[in-house]
Amino acid sequence: MKGTTSEAETKTRSNAENTTVVLLGTGMPRPDPAASGPATAIVVGKRVFLVDAGPGVMRQLAAAHLPIDGVTALFVTHLHSDHTLGYPDLIFTSWVMGRKGPLHAYGPHGFKQMTDHLVAAYAEDIKVRTEGLEHQTPDGFRVDANEIGPGIIYESDGVRVQAIAVAHGTWEEAFAYRIDTPDRSVVVSGDTRPHDDLVRFASGVDVLVHEVYASSKLKPEPRPGGEDWPRYMREYHTSDVELGILSARIQPKLLALNHIIRMGASDEELLAGVRSGGFTGRVIVGHDLDRC
Ligand SMILES: [Zn+2]
Ligand SMILES: [Zn+2]
Repeated sequence: MKGTTSEAETKTRSNAENTTVVLLGTGMPRPDPAASGPATAIVVGKRVFLVDAGPGVMRQLAAAHLPIDGVTALFVTHLHSDHTLGYPDLIFTSWVMGRKGPLHAYGPHGFKQMTDHLVAAYAEDIKVRTEGLEHQTPDGFRVDANEIGPGIIYESDGVRVQAIAVAHGTWEEAFAYRIDTPDRSVVVSGDTRPHDDLVRFASGVDVLVHEVYASSKLKPEPRPGGEDWPRYMREYHTSDVELGILSARIQPKLLALNHIIRMGASDEELLAGVRSGGFTGRVIVGHDLDRC
């Protein structure tokens, strides 16, 4: 299923300080050319708020005709590699493409250390680009990395971002984010099993972007340790049926399935799972570059 917003509507929105959600990457760790790593852009006029930076994020920003010289702010849900492998790309490519000031970024504990290690890892690149004929802006690669806890973590010009802790297996910290703009409210779940706190946090939200796996396909995998796969999924992730139950309580105006662990399931099978959980509202199976 494609995006829910017509081109004309999107054009009208992008002319004003209105909010559009762009699903830049709807995939998970498995490399899939049709589903890049997790990354969701909440575009408010000229400002771009990015949740997660999975692999492919810079290519997807370009494909969506969004700025490639830096976003307004990045919010990382947790430090799993599928959500952060595009982070060095975001740091360095946006610098090469013209970013002059620090990238403002927010994430859980360990995020600063990750940032410092990434900048250190690219020391030779930074040296050549600033001292050689490329004449890159000194310090343009810098990151203003902030480690956050639950609560309001960002507020500027009518945009407020809140975090809550969600339950993602053995991760000590994983967050969902709620972005309230002058005209819309958006919640991005990050990776989580069904979580009661998310019901209160997201209640009545305009757009709920939530991770999902196909319950109809869940079975042990034929590999060493593969018998634990169903248990892993239940402790770390949310099934389509569970998401239907959750969404029936949250009542978002639109539910967008994201971070889709299909295991071979079709869009129709995922939607059937959500419906069987009891959610009767608007729902789309997210595809890369969908706008909603
Ligand atoms: Zn994860
Ligand atoms: Zn993930």
